[in-house]
Amino acid sequence: MGTSSTTTAAGVGARLYEAADWYDAESLLTQDERRVLARLRDFLDREAEPLLAEYWERGEFPEQLARPLIDLDLMEPAELTKDGPARGIYQGFRIFELARTDASLATWYTAQAGLFRTAIRVGASAEQQREWMPRVIDFSLKGVFSLTEPEHGSDIAGGLSTTARREGDGWILDGAKRWIGGAATADVLAVFARDAADGQVKAFLVDREADGVTLEKIHGKTALRMMQNAHITLEGVRVHESMRLHNVDSFRDVAAMLRAMRSDVAWIATGIAAGAFEAALAYVNERRQFGRTLGSFQLVQEKLARMLGNVTAGLSLVVRLTEQQAKGIYRDQDSALAKMQTSLFMRDTVALAREVVGGNGITLAADVARFHADAEAVYSYEGTHEINALIIGRALTGQSAFTR
Ligand SMILES: Cc1cc2nc3c(=O)[nH]c(=O)nc-3n(C[C@H](O)[C@H](O)[C@H](O)COP(=O)(O)OP(=O)(O)OC[C@H]3O[C@@H](n4cnc5c(N)ncnc54)[C@H](O)[C@@H]3O)c2cc1C
Repeated sequence: MGTSSTTTAAGVGARLYEAADWYDAESLLTQDERRVLARLRDFLDREAEPLLAEYWERGEFPEQLARPLIDLDLMEPAELTKDGPARGIYQGFRIFELARTDASLATWYTAQAGLFRTAIRVGASAEQQREWMPRVIDFSLKGVFSLTEPEHGSDIAGGLSTTARREGDGWILDGAKRWIGGAATADVLAVFARDAADGQVKAFLVDREADGVTLEKIHGKTALRMMQNAHITLEGVRVHESMRLHNVDSFRDVAAMLRAMRSDVAWIATGIAAGAFEAALAYVNERRQFGRTLGSFQLVQEKLARMLGNVTAGLSLVVRLTEQQAKGIYRDQDSALAKMQTSLFMRDTVALAREVVGGNGITLAADVARFHADAEAVYSYEGTHEINALIIGRALTGQSAFTR
């Protein structure tokens, strides 16, 4: 795919993100961080790239990539964590790198490293975290984030209707969840349910194979076909109190999780835009019409410039957001703005990329087709355009346009 397989696993002699990183955001990374990312790049180019078109068409996740990706130890790599957790900017570039290759790979990874890890980090008590977090980081406890419901997507905060009823030393869960990414291969489902007694939202780790849990694969997707999503039914599912996330007392705590996760998705959207741009750039420099390469035409160059503008603006936005978060500044409107705007940049970029590749732009032989299709899922998940815009609008005007 990209134009920049310029590194070896051992060395970081050349830049990782040549064309896609016009303003050299990569220079914010340390040599150790770049080395870890170079190993990831090398793996993606060698092992993942040759499989993507075939598995996308089959609508299957290339499971043979899962173990080696886990073994790359990307979440908290030992060489980056001598003085504490790996830096946010590294975490962002790691997601960018995955998404720049494939949106499903990035979504698969962030289901664990973003969604589930955030659920545990924000929702679990200190004691629960001590027990679970090391297993989340090494993937020996795989989990998914089960919030959305068949009847409640954008209005989940007020509408969430899965119930949790206290009984003896545990809880009984009833309801349904929809779109849950990676559920079929997870050990546990982090399920959000409304306490029938106090009406507040609580969270539970539910064994995927517990009695009363049914998973159905969602078929017929035209985006993120490699990543599997499930419709989950919960009928009288028993969960012990020790498996309740003790720091989740209301939807306010869920909102804190969403705030952190939206910035991950902004990095994914930017990575997708970069991947599509790079694939289009490589194509137009090869393909000839009228006796010249497509890239030599003024109208094509204008589209390349717009794509680069989108990627550069997106990268600048996510880098700055990540810097703010590193200072401890987390606001709903900030991650909502990043998710909304990078998704717009992404959508514009994949459409331009598809356009300059012509007819081949709708076949899987050219990478842009995969990015073009997958972008639509990313555009909608983790808060749609409208919902993120309303969060920003509320911050700007002090008035909520949500109707409940
Ligand atoms: C591929 C994929 C993976 C996903 N993975 C997960 C997951 O792992 N876990 C999970 O919990 N969820 C997941 N989701 C669910 C995702 O978060 C929801 O799809 C999203 O929140 C939107 O909900 P909805 O699809 O029900 O759309 P709806 O809420 O039905 O919205 C439909 C349209 O109406 C618009 N709309 C709704 N309300 C308003 C309003 N007040 N004003 C203006 N416009 C409005 C929306 O913006 C949207 O354009 C995933 C979704 C997809 C597609």
